[in-house]
Amino acid sequence: MSDQVRQPSVIECCGAAAGLLIGAVRPRRRDERLLRSITDAGLPTARATVKITTLEQAPRSVPTAAVVEGTFTPRRVDNSLNTFVVQHPRATFLVDPAVCLDAEERAIAQLPAVLRGVVRPPADTLATITALQREPALPTADFALPTHAHWDHVCGLLDMPGLPVHLHGVEHRWISHGEVAPVGGVRDALVDRPLIDYELDGPPILTFTRSHDLFGDGSIVLVDLAGHTPGSVGILAHTENGWVLLAGDAAWHNLQIEGVRQKSSFPGGFADEDRDKTFRTLHRLHLARHLVTIVPTHDHSAAVRFRPTVETVHPVP
Ligand SMILES: [Zn+2]
Repeated sequence: MSDQVRQPSVIECCGAAAGLLIGAVRPRRRDERLLRSITDAGLPTARATVKITTLEQAPRSVPTAAVVEGTFTPRRVDNSLNTFVVQHPRATFLVDPAVCLDAEERAIAQLPAVLRGVVRPPADTLATITALQREPALPTADFALPTHAHWDHVCGLLDMPGLPVHLHGVEHRWISHGEVAPVGGVRDALVDRPLIDYELDGPPILTFTRSHDLFGDGSIVLVDLAGHTPGSVGILAHTENGWVLLAGDAAWHNLQIEGVRQKSSFPGGFADEDRDKTFRTLHRLHLARHLVTIVPTHDHSAAVRFRPTVETVHPVP
């Protein structure tokens, strides 16, 4: 099944371009009142420890201002299409199986034309299946758990037929309705496989309003990061070196979280389903940043700390 493509209108494109220029000079200001209103509900009580491994991936250097609104220092940052392997005592799962073989034909061709050039990964980008084959010591994955259903977080599944996927019910409903999947290229990766829906039925955790305890032992807790997509989640993981939050695309880079800076309007305006909600979620991440190590999926410098070749994998507490 192939998705049709929803092409942004000329007005949307002009709006994004204008937003890029305005945002460069006058980035959206943080909401101090919102920051004061957010409370910290504390960390879960974990009865197990998990291990996170980032799969090998090629970085791409991009201008910082194209990622983080109104930010020019450093001049450039590295981003990459990362996938994480999480080993829990009862199961091993993939977070954000990002890239399929022949991604150009099978995924990128389904994106709106205006986005293809911007999101096209460098030629040396590794498909998730290839990166997994380079880590034979890792256990075989029992399932996948995307932070959200954008093509660069699920299309690696195209090379893993039958692998079950745990998906937030809100996200599942969002991509299922209508003839056109929201940003294209996601339905093919999710059809013809077991889909296990979950809801954020648990209490507030840290600065996040809802949660879901995946194994019932407090070691992997999914938290609400809605905005970038309606059902975006973060994966809060209890590792032996401290708590880690895999944050998907709620932010593209930690500089956004540190400075409460939204994504630049182009391409962020197309990527974020609800810009206002995404910005509010960013405030929650900002307040949680000293309590957990936050890893935006595409922040290469944050993700690479969980490569097995790095001797000292010590997240900042
Ligand atoms: Zn995304």
